[in-house]
Amino acid sequence: MQTYQPTLGSESYRDVPTFGGFDIVVLGGGPAGIAAATTAAESGHSVLLIERLGFCGGAAVSGMSGTICGLYMTVADPSVAQPQQIIFGFAERMRQALEAEGGLTAPQIYGKTWVTTHDCAKYKKVATDLLRGAGVQILYHTEMVDVITEGDALVGLVLHTRSGFARVLGKRVIDASGDADAVFRMGLATTKGNNGIIQNPSMMFKIGNVDLPRYLEYWGDNTICPPKVVEKLEQRDELLRKKVWLFPTVNPGEILVNGTKITGFDGRDLDVTDPVDHSEAEQFSIYQARAFFDFLKEEIPGCENAYFIDYAQEVGVRQTRSIDGVKRLMNDDVVKARKTNDSIAKSSWPIELHYGAKPKTEWLVDDYYDVPFATLVPKQGRNVIVAGRCLSAEHEALASCRVTAQCFEYGRAAAIAADLSIREGIDFQDIDGVQILELMKTTE
Ligand SMILES: Cc1cc2nc3c(=O)[nH]c(=O)nc-3n(C[C@H](O)[C@H](O)[C@H](O)COP(=O)(O)OP(=O)(O)OC[C@H]3O[C@@H](n4cnc5c(N)ncnc54)[C@H](O)[C@@H]3O)c2cc1C
Repeated sequence: MQTYQPTLGSESYRDVPTFGGFDIVVLGGGPAGIAAATTAAESGHSVLLIERLGFCGGAAVSGMSGTICGLYMTVADPSVAQPQQIIFGFAERMRQALEAEGGLTAPQIYGKTWVTTHDCAKYKKVATDLLRGAGVQILYHTEMVDVITEGDALVGLVLHTRSGFARVLGKRVIDASGDADAVFRMGLATTKGNNGIIQNPSMMFKIGNVDLPRYLEYWGDNTICPPKVVEKLEQRDELLRKKVWLFPTVNPGEILVNGTKITGFDGRDLDVTDPVDHSEAEQFSIYQARAFFDFLKEEIPGCENAYFIDYAQEVGVRQTRSIDGVKRLMNDDVVKARKTNDSIAKSSWPIELHYGAKPKTEWLVDDYYDVPFATLVPKQGRNVIVAGRCLSAEHEALASCRVTAQCFEYGRAAAIAADLSIREGIDFQDIDGVQILELMKTTE
């Protein structure tokens, strides 16, 4: 368990200018934050969304993570099966909106399941439409730097804006920061990876002018590379990752590349919650992505005349802190496909663990597990709930449940719980997950 120095009480920020008070403050505009803020505002609450960047989408856009994973059931052989969607709600709303915008491919085979690749520009537009349509107030280019507490209750956040510090008060806070930033700053317990070692980040990038028919003839329909590509990668000492995934996008001749493993220049594992390590990750990324691009041009038919479109805006971070929740999703829950009566999301996504030279994928075939509501609720601390990849989960379980289809539903569940908590004046710890499941069903 990792702890943080206790925060300053509300008195310490008395002289900081206030940005006002809201029913619900959502920290972070990633997939979970978009879903949480939209759902909360649509249930009639005043909602403020705080995002340190100038757009929403989180790792799905700034990290160009690129596809919606987790929508479909995993099967023995997708080449002879039809995709069966297992998660709806906000995930389906986002899927439909992206499709209507021309920003989503048809399902593409990924191992024993399917993904759909999204276009980041269209994602930004769809997120803006949803949030504005719901009446969410957004503060971009604003970072939460501390919390304001009264006893064990979170009552507001301290923000850093281009005009200096400001404070905002909220009846409830949904921490969708990915890093459990608010929970951590409240001094509540969090864990990080496998005894502090987190999954490797990756730098995503896109290439253009690919001769797609020739590329597909060589690579095949599966977006995960065939064994002949693994053999070639194993001969390249300069490339750290030996199993990679490539996704043709909605744009002609364009491929999204998930092919890098990011470490320090000396090969050590990095902790991206440390600013020095995070900065090193960004720098090392530039060289790994470039070296992988050279490999594609030299070795993969159809890529000879490709050009490098761009890097993602920042290195893609898969894992940082997880909260210590009222319930914890255990590795065994995933492997044994455990079902619960307080589920906020089904998942059939494999354990996709980015550790070592080859990411480990462990498949659940023709089955799924449930993610219980109370994985979003910190054991201690009032007025705060999390949504997204910082939920309470063991290391390998998180390598499955962190993908975006499920994150959308975590956001929706957190907003429904915040609404209930305000209306009935109850703490998140006292909410029955069975009730959240019922409310999610009636609003799907
Ligand atoms: C390389 C990579 C590839 C991936 N590939 C896929 C894929 O193909 N398909 C898939 O479904 N998933 C994929 N994922 C996983 C997926 O992108 C993430 O798990 C998902 O984006 C998590 O959503 P989130 O909303 O919990 O957090 P995030 O997406 O991390 O969003 C958190 C947001 O909070 C903001 N924020 C954080 N702290 C603060 C603060 N203090 N103040 C203000 N703002 C703050 C951040 O700027 C960010 O926008 C991938 C991830 C990585 C890293």
